[in-house]
Amino acid sequence: MNNKVALITGSSSGIGRTTALTFARNGFGVIINHLNDREQAEQVLKEVQNAGSQGLVIQADVSKSDEAKHMMDVAVEEFGHIDVLVNNAGITRDQLMVRLSDEDWLQVINTNLNGAFYCSRAAVKYMMKKRYGRIINISSVVGISGNAGQTNYAAAKSGLLGLTFSIAHEYGRRGINANAVAPGYIQSNMTAKLSPEQTEKIKSGIAVGRLGTSDDIAGVIAFLASPAADYINGQVIRVDGGLSGL
Ligand code: NAD
Repeated sequence: MNNKVALITGSSSGIGRTTALTFARNGFGVIINHLNDREQAEQVLKEVQNAGSQGLVIQADVSKSDEAKHMMDVAVEEFGHIDVLVNNAGITRDQLMVRLSDEDWLQVINTNLNGAFYCSRAAVKYMMKKRYGRIINISSVVGISGNAGQTNYAAAKSGLLGLTFSIAHEYGRRGINANAVAPGYIQSNMTAKLSPEQTEKIKSGIAVGRLGTSDDIAGVIAFLASPAADYINGQVIRVDGGLSGL
C-alpha cells in the first residue's frame, strides 16, 4: 500500500481519527481534515508521523462546496494524488420530526450528504486521471432502517447509500470503487450524548453485548481500501455486532 494517499474527512476525533491512524500504520500518506479543532488535528498528525507516515492537516467545512474542492486541490498539490477518500464527517441534530427545525434538517443534510457529494465530485476528477480510486462512505444502520427521532440523519445516511451505489456504476470502469460502511452503535462523541439508561437498552439489543469501538469500524474501512477488496464495488457493509431492531 506504500505511496498511496488517503483523505479522511472529520478525522480529528472518533472513527475518523482511528481510521487516519490505521491508514498511517498501513503505510498510507494521510490527510487529516477538521472543521474547527486544529489542536486535536495536529495531535493526530503527530501520531501519523510517529507511525512513520507523511501527513497533512487541512481545515475545511465539507458542507461548503468551494471548501471541499479547495481541500482536494491542496491535497493533490502536496501529495500529487488522492487514492482513497473516506467521507466520514457527520453530525446529528436529533428531534422528533414535528419539532425538527428547517435549520437542523438542512445542517444534517448539508454535512452528512452534500459534504460527501462535494468531496467525492472533487476527488473523482483526480482519481480518474490515475484510473484508480477508492471512495468509502460512512453511512449508518439508521440509513438502512430509519430511526425515530432521526429523520434528518437517516435521510442523509440513506442518501449516502444511493450516492455510493451510483458512483460505483458511474466510475467502476475507470478504476474507482465506491462502498459504504454502516456502523451500528459505536463509542464516540456522538454516542456519548446518550444517557446511561439509553446505552444499556441499546446494549441489550446487540448480539455481541457491547457497543462497537472506532477500531471495529476503521478495520473494515482499511480492508475496503486494500487490494483484498479490489472486486468489492457498490456494497454496504453493516458493522453492528448483530444489532436487532434497526
Ligand atoms: P465524531 O463526532 O467524533 O466525528 C465526526 C467528525 O466530523 C468530527 O470530528 C467533526 O468535527 C467532523 N465534522 C462535523 N461536521 C463537519 C464539517 N462540516 N466539515 C468537516 N468535518 C466535520 O463522531 P463519530 O462517531 O466518530 O462519527 C464519524 C462518522 O460515523 C459520522 O459520519 C457518523 O454519522 C458515523 N456513525 C457513527 C456512529 C456511532 O455510533 N458513533 C454510528 C453510525 C455512523
